[in-house]
Amino acid sequence: MSEDRCPFCGNDAALYLATAGFGRCRSCSLIFRANVSGPADLDELYAQSWAHPETNRSETGGTELAHSQVYARLLAKSLAVNDFRGLTLCDFGAGRGSMAQALIELGGEVIAIEPYGHEYLISRGIKTYKTLADVPAQVQFDGIVSVSVLEHLRAPWQELEQLRDRLKSKGWAYFATPNAAGLAARIGGNRWREALRPGHLVLLTPGTIANALSKAGYTNFKRLKWYIGYRRGIRKALGYSLQLSGFDGELRYLAFN
Ligand SMILES: [Zn+2]
Repeated sequence: MSEDRCPFCGNDAALYLATAGFGRCRSCSLIFRANVSGPADLDELYAQSWAHPETNRSETGGTELAHSQVYARLLAKSLAVNDFRGLTLCDFGAGRGSMAQALIELGGEVIAIEPYGHEYLISRGIKTYKTLADVPAQVQFDGIVSVSVLEHLRAPWQELEQLRDRLKSKGWAYFATPNAAGLAARIGGNRWREALRPGHLVLLTPGTIANALSKAGYTNFKRLKWYIGYRRGIRKALGYSLQLSGFDGELRYLAFN
C-alpha cells in the first residue's frame, strides 16, 4: 500500500478492505481505492454501462422513482418546506433522472448534471448539462442534490467546493453516499456490495465526509437520520429490497453555504 498516498492528506494507508481493493489512511482514516484505473478505463466502464442504461444500474443510478419521491419529500421536510416551488435546483450526477423527476414533481426547476447519461435525460425532457462548468455562469442554485455520486470521485471535496461556489448565499446542498461505518459495511467487509463496485473510489464515514465538507468550505452541515416507518403504503412504495438494504447503509448530509 505504501505507493498509494491518501488523496485527502497525503499520508500512507493501512490495510483495510484490501481484498476489495481499498486502503485506509493512517492519518485521516479516508477509505480509498488503491491502484485506481486511469480515467480512460473509468470512461470506458461508464460508457459501456450507459449503452444499456436500464440494465447496468450500479453505474447509471438504481434508485427508482418511487424511492426518489420518498427521499424528495423527506428532504423538503428536513428543510421545513412543503415543496420546491420557485427554487432553482441542481441534481449533480443525475443518473437515470429519478431524483430530478421527483424534485420537478414537487415544483423545483431542475438542472441536471450527468456526464455520461445526458442524452438519455434530455430525451426524457430534463434540462441537462454534461458538466457543472457547462452551466451558464450566471446560474446560481437555491439547492443542490447529489445522490450516490461522492463515492465515484477520487477527491470528492473538490467537486463539493465547485458545487458550493454555485450556491446562493442561503443555499443548501444534500449529499447521500454509502456509509462505510454502517451495519451493512461492517457485516459485509470485503464483500460489502458498495466495496465491490469498481467505480467506487472512496467509501466515506461520518468522520471522513465531515472532513471533506469542511475542506470544501461548508461551515454548517448536519447528518440527516430519516426514520421511515414500515406502514403498509410505504412498504409498498419502497419495495422489500430497500428495507433489506437498510437505511443505516446510507450517509445523508445537509450542508449550508
Ligand atoms: Zn488521509
